[in-house]
Amino acid sequence: MPSAITFLSRLLTPKRWLHDKYISRAEAIGLSQAEEVAAMKPIVSSFCLIIGIYYCVVTANRFLSETGMALWMMFTLSAATAVISFYFHFIYLKRAQKVYQLNVASLTVNLFLFTNPVTFQALHYDPKRLVYFIFLTLMFAMTGISLRVIVPSIVVTLVTVAAMALAHQGYVSFENSAMIAVMIPTAVILAMVVRQTLFRAVESRVRAENLRAEAQSMADSDVLTGLPNRRNFFRVIEAALKRVSDGETSFHLALIDLDGFKPINDIYGHSVGDLLLIEVGSRLRQVCGQRAFVARMGGDEFAIILAGDVDKAALDSFGRQVCDALRDTYFLGGVTANISGSVGVVRCDSAQLTASQLLERADYALYFAKQNLRGAPVVFTEKHEAEMRDFSQVDQALRSSDLAAELSIMFQPQVDVVENRTISFEALARWNSAKLGSVRPDIFIKAAERSGLITEITLLLLEKSLSEVRGWPESTRVSFNLSARDLRSGISIANICNTVRKSGIDPHRIEFEITETAMLTDFEQACEALARLKAMGCRIAVDDFGSGYSSFSYIHRLPIDKIKIDRSFVVQLLKHGSALKIIKTIIDLCRNLNLDCVIEGVETQAEMSKLAQVRARYIQGYLFSKPLPAEQVISYLATETARIESALKAG
Ligand code: C2E
Ligand code: CA
Ligand code: CA
Repeated sequence: MPSAITFLSRLLTPKRWLHDKYISRAEAIGLSQAEEVAAMKPIVSSFCLIIGIYYCVVTANRFLSETGMALWMMFTLSAATAVISFYFHFIYLKRAQKVYQLNVASLTVNLFLFTNPVTFQALHYDPKRLVYFIFLTLMFAMTGISLRVIVPSIVVTLVTVAAMALAHQGYVSFENSAMIAVMIPTAVILAMVVRQTLFRAVESRVRAENLRAEAQSMADSDVLTGLPNRRNFFRVIEAALKRVSDGETSFHLALIDLDGFKPINDIYGHSVGDLLLIEVGSRLRQVCGQRAFVARMGGDEFAIILAGDVDKAALDSFGRQVCDALRDTYFLGGVTANISGSVGVVRCDSAQLTASQLLERADYALYFAKQNLRGAPVVFTEKHEAEMRDFSQVDQALRSSDLAAELSIMFQPQVDVVENRTISFEALARWNSAKLGSVRPDIFIKAAERSGLITEITLLLLEKSLSEVRGWPESTRVSFNLSARDLRSGISIANICNTVRKSGIDPHRIEFEITETAMLTDFEQACEALARLKAMGCRIAVDDFGSGYSSFSYIHRLPIDKIKIDRSFVVQLLKHGSALKIIKTIIDLCRNLNLDCVIEGVETQAEMSKLAQVRARYIQGYLFSKPLPAEQVISYLATETARIESALKAG
């Protein structure tokens, strides 16, 4: 009963019914009008073609079967049907882009198809020929474009059958009534079945296409942030390069690396790290909007392609917007975090460089941004280009040189100003290259770090340093610099431990210096590596403290013995009062945490006097001594001992 009521209500509200059966179905499977037209057009179009051909034959046949007025009427009607059908097939439907246009074609041809037999029956009524209308209803049912057209066509056709029978015979025969009664539901069901089948086919095609599009977009986007991924980035940059080579427009490529992401990931866990990356992604998307393409390259690295001619001011302002957006505080499920982003930018206005060469340059600018100007964009310049060339020269030379012969060590004293004696020497690498001459350590160490050669070089330098230390007094320690790379693998740490063991030197006399940045690159791995060195009895110092994140929050979690305050504070000592205050705070904190505190790079007596005010105890700098060649260490120590002894005697 309820279904009968539903059916009735649907019949009474045909619009809703049609909507449910037809429109909503198309909508539900996400068919756009264009897709719907594409799916249905072949049916109407071939229907028009067949009718056109059929009515050509019928038109010719009129001459055989008709005469006089009837001939002209029937001839005109069939010829018009053929012409109109061909018009729809060859012209109108070719251009049709809307569903209503398909309906217009289908309805018009239906009307002509209907008018032909009606006129024929009006001229010479033949009850047997009423069956012709049955074929019509079937044809309408099968070829109609929408139920809006099909249902009225069928109903009108069959009502006409009844009306004609009534008009000519005075009654509707049982056969005709039965035929009408059967044909209405048959035609409607047939129409629905045809349409359902068609929609299913279209639906599965659309589903397959959606799936393919989804798979494509998954392959092209980063799962975590939803941003385009590396692969997608390369496609976009290749297209941008193509536009440059076609002389259309230049573009800028920016690489962004987060500063301080790793410690957050390590300390608060990966889920907070993930939230942070998602937030970074959405902030970058917001800053870039429509004007730039942003992708996640992997890890905490992102890339932006800024199309079009952008002048320096606009580029600076864009870079600042990116940095400012990244610097805003992050609220990540109960955790508050602050990070910044380093940005390296390269401009591309000629097609001389490939995508990977551009990336290399942006990466170089990024490296520079990280080293020098945290949180501010660095644009790749001619100067960088020259440096990069030198850099690759250094890299080449490092690989092809006899490093065991060319590398040497200098030792710089660290002085206890309270006891007025040297407690330790920092081992500083020197490279006198046969090909390039003397190369600054910061340059060749960086090159070796980038190429991965550093782990080998570290072992070589450590061996050389320790063989010198063997000749020193037992009370003198050595400080040795390690790179981030040295901490990164268990194997390199094991090799370092072996070298220490083989040297026969008491590990308590060996101190390893590691920069904050190196420790925080992979906090967990660094903790593990330091724990192994510590377990042997070696000491650990944090180098260049204050030049990076300068956060005490992680210090207590690491097994360290010493902090070395970066030279940049000493440089500011005589200029800004705050530098001394900062140094004092760090010294006090070290005292509380029971850590030694060395101040690096003290050059003048004026600086030393300032430091005396805050009771700085351990000093390293040119004021006491420049780095000494290995062979001078013993005589330096002997002179120092003699001085101390004579001072004692005098005292
Ligand atoms: P660092 O570890 O911070 O070393 C201290 C640097 O400051 C040394 O530069 C030293 O000569 C310099 N210095 C010391 N006192 C003063 C001063 O009073 N004024 C000035 N202006 N400078 C002073 P150096 O020897 O050129 O080494 C530069 C950097 O190269 C080192 O910085 C360190 O990061 C790296 N390095 C040197 N040797 C090694 C090594 O064997 N292994 C590793 N991984 N890195 C090394
Ligand atoms: Ca150092
Ligand atoms: Ca240092």
